[in-house]
Amino acid sequence: MMRNKKILMVIIDGISDRPVNNKTPLSEAKTPNMDRIATMGINGIMDTIAPGIRPGSDTGHLALLGYNPFKFYTGRGPIEAAGAGVKVNPGDIAFRVNFGTVKGEGNIFDKIVVDRRAGRISKTQPLIDAIMQGVNLDVEFILAKGSGHRAALVLRGKNLSDKITDTDPKIIGEKVKMCKPLIDDRNAIFTAKIVNEFMEKSHEILENHPLNKDRENQGLLKANALLLRGVGKVPHIPSFSERYGMRLAVISGTTLIRGIGKVLGGDLIEVEGMTGGKDTSIKNKVKMAIKSLEEYGFVLLHFKATDEFGHDGDFDGKRNFIEKIDMELKPLLELDFSRVCLILTADHSTSIIAKEHTADPVPVTIVHEGVRVDDVKQFSEFEAYKGGLCRIRGMDLINIALDLIDRAKKFGA
Ligand code: ZN
Ligand code: ZN
Repeated sequence: MMRNKKILMVIIDGISDRPVNNKTPLSEAKTPNMDRIATMGINGIMDTIAPGIRPGSDTGHLALLGYNPFKFYTGRGPIEAAGAGVKVNPGDIAFRVNFGTVKGEGNIFDKIVVDRRAGRISKTQPLIDAIMQGVNLDVEFILAKGSGHRAALVLRGKNLSDKITDTDPKIIGEKVKMCKPLIDDRNAIFTAKIVNEFMEKSHEILENHPLNKDRENQGLLKANALLLRGVGKVPHIPSFSERYGMRLAVISGTTLIRGIGKVLGGDLIEVEGMTGGKDTSIKNKVKMAIKSLEEYGFVLLHFKATDEFGHDGDFDGKRNFIEKIDMELKPLLELDFSRVCLILTADHSTSIIAKEHTADPVPVTIVHEGVRVDDVKQFSEFEAYKGGLCRIRGMDLINIALDLIDRAKKFGA
């Protein structure tokens, strides 16, 4: 049995759409390279999680990597923290954090949120350092910088619970929320108390920090509060290599997807010009994905901006970006498909009308020597369902690929 075959999974975030007048950005885009891939492969449509379930990018990616999100997903906080570079441990409690601006008298919970991004501040490391040095809690904590005004908070210690509420009111003009236990449980009560102490102590330090005094003098909003949301407990999750006997490489500029890679014990591959946004270097990412196949058994190549255009409701922008990606996919056609299994798909549909993810199934193509090539000649929502894969679930995808590269274990005798 050949043990050195590889899998390259290309996930174009939210590329598919809910049609408007029978058109989608993908069906309208000129995509000669994706169409070539569809022509060479077996095609189908896929419910990333299950029919009618709207996937998040995090739960969608977990499913595509063969991890049941209903079992392993415990909230966005742990994944963001891992993506921000914190080495999280099972049992840690993690939050997503925004630096925000609050105004008013009294303690933090009497104050009103006037900006949830503190004027989109990005220089937050001195503030984070001051909090790490100045705040003492009854448990260990880590505050880590994310992109822009974002950060992640991890609480580590005994008797911690994630059955607690957010402190971010998520609405401008409302007071900062006090963290409350969601259940009548000693650990939840203890954790809520710790979080509230953290809120007060960090606010005090931020309010008086020289960087904020400077901002005030310049007429900028002070970053004087940390707003917490997305709490979750870091799950016990078997690593990708433990589960599949292959090392995982993730090529993505998006904190959330990088976090998935980290939580599964994968390696994050850095690429020059990779931004996680609309200005990312598609060419360099494709190049690096192909190069990474030398060292890794499984390479996940992720593009984000298609989803962002979807959330913006921008049909033309999404179509144009799809064409931009397509142009750079040409090197994939040169792969040796007796050795590499190429998968082209999405983590969910993002509707330009709903400006949100929808449960409409996504197109999926698998190319490998030995697949039953079908008649589909275009990579689009309207053609994919005519293919030989028919309709599958995201959790099945990796099993199909493992079978094709002869890594599947036989069930039974
Ligand atoms: Zn997504
Ligand atoms: Zn999205």
